[in-house]
Amino acid sequence: MVELLAPAGDLEKLKIALLYGADAVFIGGVDFSLRARASNFEIKDIKEACDFAHQRGKKVYITTNIIPHNEDLIGVLEYLKDLESVKVDAIISASPYIIDQALEHTNLEVHLSTQQSAYNTESVNYWFHKGVKRVVLARELAKDQIKSLTAKTKADVEVFIHGGMCMSFSGRCSLSDNMTDRDANRGGCAHSCRWNYELVENDKKVSDEMFSMSSKDLEALEQIPFLIDANVSSLKIEGRMKSLHYIATVVSTYRQLIDTYEKEKSIVDFAPYYVDLMKAENRLTSHGYLEGLPGVDEQLFNHRSEKPSQLFIGLGIDYDHTNKIATIEQRNHFKIGSHIEVFNPSGKKFEFILEEMYDDLDQPLDTARHPKQILKIKVDQEIEPYAMIRRAV
Ligand code: SF4
Repeated sequence: MVELLAPAGDLEKLKIALLYGADAVFIGGVDFSLRARASNFEIKDIKEACDFAHQRGKKVYITTNIIPHNEDLIGVLEYLKDLESVKVDAIISASPYIIDQALEHTNLEVHLSTQQSAYNTESVNYWFHKGVKRVVLARELAKDQIKSLTAKTKADVEVFIHGGMCMSFSGRCSLSDNMTDRDANRGGCAHSCRWNYELVENDKKVSDEMFSMSSKDLEALEQIPFLIDANVSSLKIEGRMKSLHYIATVVSTYRQLIDTYEKEKSIVDFAPYYVDLMKAENRLTSHGYLEGLPGVDEQLFNHRSEKPSQLFIGLGIDYDHTNKIATIEQRNHFKIGSHIEVFNPSGKKFEFILEEMYDDLDQPLDTARHPKQILKIKVDQEIEPYAMIRRAV
């Protein structure tokens, strides 16, 4: 069975990812991890994450994937020992030194980070023979190249299927470092490629239009059957800084697609999966390198195209079956008369028109205005804990 691997920036997102169908999550510790601005986990949080995942037969991987300078290496072994003691399932690393320390002095399973740019079978086998169990392939590979690679290695192979791409080769970008003194390879990427730039030649503006250098995000719904048949071990969603709603929606969509393909050996219609995926606040997407070298349509040269979703309006907390009252936490404005869709972690979905709503003192409300306000709403069907409540479209 192929693994669906999801990102988690904090414990709440980790729980959402696992409850909505991820087999494993990857998280960053406070040390030695990229995504320095993601809410990284202290050891006690990592322990709680592992306990939550293991109780459900799922796994937690910790990113220790910086490209370290000398001053970054202080305390590596102690940190690895701490990770081993709280029973993490693997570390994801790029530094040969961190990998050696883990393999020589701990029993941690080691996965090679995409930051090491593994593009070919020889590189994958090199790391496998050193003791690395899994290799996260470079994102700049076509699906046929991935298939020929998996056929010639005993290493587990992990492939990115959804999320942000770099316009530079992964792990080889110094744009942010040069422009902001924030090193992308030590967790500080300022996304300088996504800024708006003027095009100037000999001090003269060439165009009135601003441009950016960003790639569209990766999306691989239609490539999933191919990747499963190519014996890819793990399908990875990227985005530790994304919202709860994004994680629930993207994870659940790929979960359903994978389950359907594994059961029926074909996908008759991808359209419903696209509809579900687009309910998350995606940037514009493309298939990245999976169908070959990206062309001009896979880049975002003249607009950023962030599409923030206003669909997500609340998070399920509890449901009183006797009185048919759900307790929820508000996340976006809605009101009496709103057409609402409930998307439960169990996969059950339903819609209703909101007719009754109360605050936490049982006072009737017309409008839910305040972020994170605890509300009670009348609804005939169960809203499960961690349910996504969103405006129906
Ligand atoms: S600046 Fe852009 S291309 Fe460079 S590492 Fe950051 S996201 Fe990737």
